[in-house]
Amino acid sequence: MGLFSRIIRTFGPVGGYEVARQICRSQPRILMYHRFSSAPAEGKCSSKHFEDQVKHIKRNYNPFSLIGLMEYQREHGRFPPHAVVITVDDGYRDFYQYAFPILKKYDVPATLFATTGFIEREHWLWPDKITWLLNEVSEIPETIQIDLIELPSGPVSAENRPVYWKRLNDHALSLPDQEKQQFIGELTLRLNTAFPLSIPGAYEPLNWEELRELQDSGIEIGGHTVTHPSLGRVDEEQAKEEIFGCMESLTKNLGERPRTFCYPNGQPSDFKPFLPGIVERAGFYGAVTAFPDARGVAEPYLMRRHASGDDMFQFFKSVSGAELIGLQLRSEVRLGMGAVVASYGR
Ligand SMILES: [Zn+2]
Repeated sequence: MGLFSRIIRTFGPVGGYEVARQICRSQPRILMYHRFSSAPAEGKCSSKHFEDQVKHIKRNYNPFSLIGLMEYQREHGRFPPHAVVITVDDGYRDFYQYAFPILKKYDVPATLFATTGFIEREHWLWPDKITWLLNEVSEIPETIQIDLIELPSGPVSAENRPVYWKRLNDHALSLPDQEKQQFIGELTLRLNTAFPLSIPGAYEPLNWEELRELQDSGIEIGGHTVTHPSLGRVDEEQAKEEIFGCMESLTKNLGERPRTFCYPNGQPSDFKPFLPGIVERAGFYGAVTAFPDARGVAEPYLMRRHASGDDMFQFFKSVSGAELIGLQLRSEVRLGMGAVVASYGR
């Protein structure tokens, strides 16, 4: 049994989270959200759960925007106690509709990372295109084989839709950006359909006016590229265009320079060693990943984040520091084992 499970067993869940909160009081946690809804819905954080979470943060933690946290650290030479940062990726309109009123009600700051080409409505986010395609068609007319992907002919149902979505999404993620766009185009043709000219309501972005209102109300607006590619799958030139382009667009439209950045998709495979340098040269002061590990917020241009959303168990694990403690213990065990193996080998 892991240490944390033992703590939970001894102190009960509430006591266990409190122990984690105390152990991690000087290690900030950055929480990551994406989408919101009024009622429970797949992949979205409902208003009810978000309000419970914001109330819990307000009562037990010290909430900051990401730049607020960085400024505090610069001024004081250390992080504030019990610091938690709420971050929201992409720039969907549902943040404004459902999450913002709750943040305002409890006076809790947050950081929103906006994909500027999406805000401009020049394109929609590509995973949404795959979702839309699979919702649009009820039947695959002929077996589709593109690269290594195969979708058999036959009806598209509630059962196989998530399976197909994952298959297509995983494949698209593995492709260089341009090939990914071609793949989605090819898929559209094979399914005998075409994307609507404007972004459907379910996948709608915020507009600039709403972003300015958010900014004026204390929500930090950070950068998230122009077209949301995996920056691990574009060349250096394109990475520069995405990062500098997003900085320029936000500065022009919001009248203020964004100060923090979020790598799209944000997994270890979405990185290249030159990226933090480009983000810094573009003028950002810090950046976040989309995965947690033992390093926490130790690297300003690669600050790790913990998943959050509708799942209350995941929220408590993330916010209390229980997940971070688990990762740090595991990494110490690994390092410890490495030392043992090294001394044995000598
Ligand atoms: Zn994103």
